[in-house]
Amino acid sequence: MADPVFANLPTTVFEEMSGLARELGAINLGQGFPDDPGPQALRAKAAEAVLDGYNQYPPMAGIPELREAVAGHYARTQGLDFDWRSEVTVTSGATEALAAAFLALVEPGDEVAVFQPAYDAYLPLIRRAGGVPRLVSLKPPHWRLDEAAVAAAFGPKTRLVVLNNPINPAGVVLPDEDLERLARACVANDAIAICDEVWEQVVFAPARHRPLIALPGMRQRTVKIGSAGKMFGLTGWKVGFVCAAPALTGAIAKAHQFLTFTTPPNLQAAVAWGLANSDDWFETMPKDLARSRDRLTDGLTREGFAVLPSQGTYFLNIDLPASGISLGDRAFALKAVHEAGVASIPVSAFYETDPVTTILRLCFSKADATLDEGVARLARARDLALKG
Ligand code: PMP
Ligand code: GLN
Repeated sequence: MADPVFANLPTTVFEEMSGLARELGAINLGQGFPDDPGPQALRAKAAEAVLDGYNQYPPMAGIPELREAVAGHYARTQGLDFDWRSEVTVTSGATEALAAAFLALVEPGDEVAVFQPAYDAYLPLIRRAGGVPRLVSLKPPHWRLDEAAVAAAFGPKTRLVVLNNPINPAGVVLPDEDLERLARACVANDAIAICDEVWEQVVFAPARHRPLIALPGMRQRTVKIGSAGKMFGLTGWKVGFVCAAPALTGAIAKAHQFLTFTTPPNLQAAVAWGLANSDDWFETMPKDLARSRDRLTDGLTREGFAVLPSQGTYFLNIDLPASGISLGDRAFALKAVHEAGVASIPVSAFYETDPVTTILRLCFSKADATLDEGVARLARARDLALKG
């Protein structure tokens, strides 16, 4: 018999919208990926490693050069002190890291607090691991972890809490105050935090990313997840990392060994080189993306759309009713891709309960001409929506 948890799941909204964009020849401002090929030097290193490097099974926890490079990167950029031997595991993307963390740390019946908007992988994986999601909704336009949200996240059975920061799709980098509130609650409730920080390098000044694991009481109870795909704008590479205290790392590595066991060694080698040699990239990449964000914001604003601020990620959001659109987000997204040739992501897809249906997510990690044409097509979609 088919497994009821997975058999009844819809295809993810990212695949659905990219599929429609491909089929209809639409501009794709939906799924989050850059439309440039990514840093040349890093791709050259990967090619070199395929041709001249080691192409057999690497060590289960990742090649030592990459584990050391990850620890070194976090020491330099976030002041963290991971021991690469006992606290760093390389995974096949952040997605595998999430799966391994849930499989390793959730016991059947445990409650796992998840803030909505929630990245699509969290709930199915938590349920498949036997966990019971405890959903807490964050609200636009600020999506803050206020007192009420943090209080609602914890009950007597809450063992884990999932935090995505910077937040996809909100484009919010949580302020210290919110992180401190959550850290205090994790300590008070003896809960483990699974921190999905894949967007940690895609943060626009003056916003600053602060890892939850650095807060008082969190070092031993936090699992920090990163992704080279997001750090270097190479989303198809699927090289991720999990950093956590040795006891947590030990359990997660056991799950990882039966999920994928390893991650392609040549890509690991290239990422290791990138982390050790790309300080310039981490300066210029967010600046370039901030320019793209501003270009899309300005174009949309000129056309009368109400744009919410974006402090990080590849995404900004528009408020549909404030932009003169009374259709729900999904209906408008479908109309826009089918009738105006532009794909986007309805934010309601990130909510399982009490969905926010008034916000549309747009990806701005694209060439200027694509962004400009996207604006024109969104304006056309709004005209069509007004006509009914
Ligand atoms: N978490 C979040 C919040 C994401 O946005 C993404 C992908 N964009 C992932 C996890 C998955 O990362 P990866 O591609 O490294 O598996
Ligand atoms: N994280 C990407 C996004 O939010 C999607 C990744 C995927 O399709 N699994 O657009």
